[in-house]
Amino acid sequence: MSSQLNDTFPDPAKGEPFLLTPGPLTTALSVKEAMLRDWGSWDSDFRAMTKSVCDQLLGLAGDVGDFVCVPMQGSGSYCVEAMLGTFVPRDGKVLVLANGAYGLRAAEIMRYLGRAYTLIDKGDYMPPRGAEVTAALQADPAITHVIAIHCETSSGILNPVEEISKATYANGAKLLIDSMSAFGAIDLDVGRIRYEAMVSSANKCIEGVPGFGFVIARRAELEACIGRAHSLVLDVYAQWANMEKSGQWRYTPPTHAVVAFLEALRLHAEEGGVAGRGARYTKNRDVMVAGMRGLGFETLLKDRWLSPIIVTFFCPADPRFVFSEFYERMKAKGFIIYPGKLTVVDSFRIGCIGRMDSAVMTRVVQAAADCLAEMGLASAAPPAEALIERAKLAG
Ligand SMILES: *Cc1c(COP(=O)(O)O)cnc(C)c1O
Repeated sequence: MSSQLNDTFPDPAKGEPFLLTPGPLTTALSVKEAMLRDWGSWDSDFRAMTKSVCDQLLGLAGDVGDFVCVPMQGSGSYCVEAMLGTFVPRDGKVLVLANGAYGLRAAEIMRYLGRAYTLIDKGDYMPPRGAEVTAALQADPAITHVIAIHCETSSGILNPVEEISKATYANGAKLLIDSMSAFGAIDLDVGRIRYEAMVSSANKCIEGVPGFGFVIARRAELEACIGRAHSLVLDVYAQWANMEKSGQWRYTPPTHAVVAFLEALRLHAEEGGVAGRGARYTKNRDVMVAGMRGLGFETLLKDRWLSPIIVTFFCPADPRFVFSEFYERMKAKGFIIYPGKLTVVDSFRIGCIGRMDSAVMTRVVQAAADCLAEMGLASAAPPAEALIERAKLAG
């Protein structure tokens, strides 16, 4: 396991920047090169690759035979919708735990599905806690399922899924998890955290290219889901049943993205699996956050809640700071950053995931320092309201 990547990084001089965004993200050259060949979707070679992808993903989830992996075409949200539409019975009811855009999207999906749900909305970044889940489930016995967002990518907060899982099962409900931006870098071992199904996608912590996602589900639970889905193409049960029978995806698979993903999984294993990947991202975050704090920037979250996936910073109070200008200047130096999603104060985000290491993050901080100097800012300190906002967060 090493954190220094022996890699050919994108060459900013050729106009290819690092993507400091939570997917699509910067991928290894060998991942891109894996796509230079065409594959027949029905061919036994491709079927074997699909099987290998699924087996390896189950290994990352710590499965010992009780779970299955079902890949689904489309981006991550397609998989969230597929999971909710397949696992929640038509007469079921979901408790949606939201503290950002992805939790709210899960609620929006429930609205489209026309199935019952209730929402706990903690605002921009406050974490949903186990005690709140307990209270909600005890107040409403009709709730059958809880959906939690593992890392809420809109603020970068790492939500307490273990605590949420315990509260869910202690009160007779079942847990579904959107681990889109965490799986592969943060442990979600089925032996440690109980859940019925989770989703993630190819272009996040495994560092593949976009094109598909996957559902990892308890086999017995999925077997009971026949005929529940609202949608033909988003029926996880039907996709799984077809794969069990023929080894094939039901409709045209993103063949190149699958082959690239297989190479991404090889690199993931080579790096030391979930622990190795998580360690590199953690170091990326630590180096980047320390450097940015050194410039006067402040993080939205207290250290306890910071994920190693993406970090939200408050925009500086100095009126000479204009985010769009900062963005363009960072881009010119080879780094694509990400606008913030907070409603209360201005912010921006910097991702720690993708094929890059702490040496790259040091360059990111230097680029930010240069941008501030070019914009004439003496300090990146945020407005006082921002720190008052942060003080509301425990830990
Ligand atoms: C990326 C992401 C998704 C899926 O987004 P898509 O744009 O559909 O790929 C869902 N949930 C979380 C937490 C994410 O980070």
